[in-house]
Amino acid sequence: TQATADTQAGLVVASYGRHCVVETPDGERRICHPRGKKSQAVVGDYVLWLAPPPGQGDEGTIEKVLERRNVFYRQDDIRTKTFAANLDQLLILIAAEPVFSEVQLARALIAAEAAHITPIIALNKMDLEEPFLRAWERLAPYRSMRDSVEDPPHYMVLPLSLEDADEEDRDAIIGLLQGKTTLVLGPSGVGKSTLINLLLPDAKVATKEISQALNTGKHTTTSTTLYWVDEARTTAIMDSPGFQEFGLYHIAPTQLPACMPDIGAHAKNCKFYNCTHLHEPGCGVIDVVKNGSDDLPISDNRYRIYSELFDELSQVGY
Ligand code: GDP
Ligand code: ZN
Repeated sequence: TQATADTQAGLVVASYGRHCVVETPDGERRICHPRGKKSQAVVGDYVLWLAPPPGQGDEGTIEKVLERRNVFYRQDDIRTKTFAANLDQLLILIAAEPVFSEVQLARALIAAEAAHITPIIALNKMDLEEPFLRAWERLAPYRSMRDSVEDPPHYMVLPLSLEDADEEDRDAIIGLLQGKTTLVLGPSGVGKSTLINLLLPDAKVATKEISQALNTGKHTTTSTTLYWVDEARTTAIMDSPGFQEFGLYHIAPTQLPACMPDIGAHAKNCKFYNCTHLHEPGCGVIDVVKNGSDDLPISDNRYRIYSELFDELSQVGY
């Protein structure tokens, strides 16, 4: 009983387990489910979907997920799961308090680099002076990191005080997001809800509408959601509640230096082209870790993150 109607284009704006909310080009929203077990669509996916035949409810069927520009994975315990696609930017929100995990930050930056998208680090709670300065100091390697001495700093680190943000602060943040789709991430307590409410005063309403449409209670699975920041629907943020850590198992260990600019900058000086930077003689990376560098240092933490991740990725198949 395959319908004969043509498929329509749509953008997945929310996903609840296997159900998705698909938005049509004219802004209409529809609950859809994938045909068959495969081809799980995620938020940010452009899809072709089919409306149900007359009299068969109003849930659509996703027929095809169009080619992705990039895709992101989340790591839940031992499972790696696709959760978002077609991002332009990553906004990693951390705060003076709670103290942030440098490992989690580094992993998020690596996920962004591997997908060739821009990460922005935002450090909230500037008003907590002492803890803020300590966190700002811990970010020093990230603030000064560059691909080579001639290059500008690789990462933007944005100090914020979201609790007392005004219109001007809001405009400045929106300026960074303009025309792009940005995944906003942050461990709990950093002010992510404060940020999202600042950017979208009606976010709570939108969330409520979607969960009502999906019969609250039936699909309570954690969802990733795309919100338009502007009425023209050119600027979007994505929120993924409960997000803990990126899955990085799609990255080969030998690809890591390309995803860690401080390591990558010195890897160019290694004697062996296939140097792993773990033990080889004539290694440009180990040289800087041991002897330092005025221009482009590699902190002990960064090197430890590199070598531990190299081992981890080596054990999962590459
Ligand atoms: P979420 O868990 O990341 O969604 O964080 P919330 O937005 O709920 O904020 C967590 C806590 O941090 C709340 O008590 C906020 O009032 C507080 N908070 C948010 N922004 C700031 C800030 O700029 N400075 C300070 N001191 N506290 C903030
Ligand atoms: Zn090396």
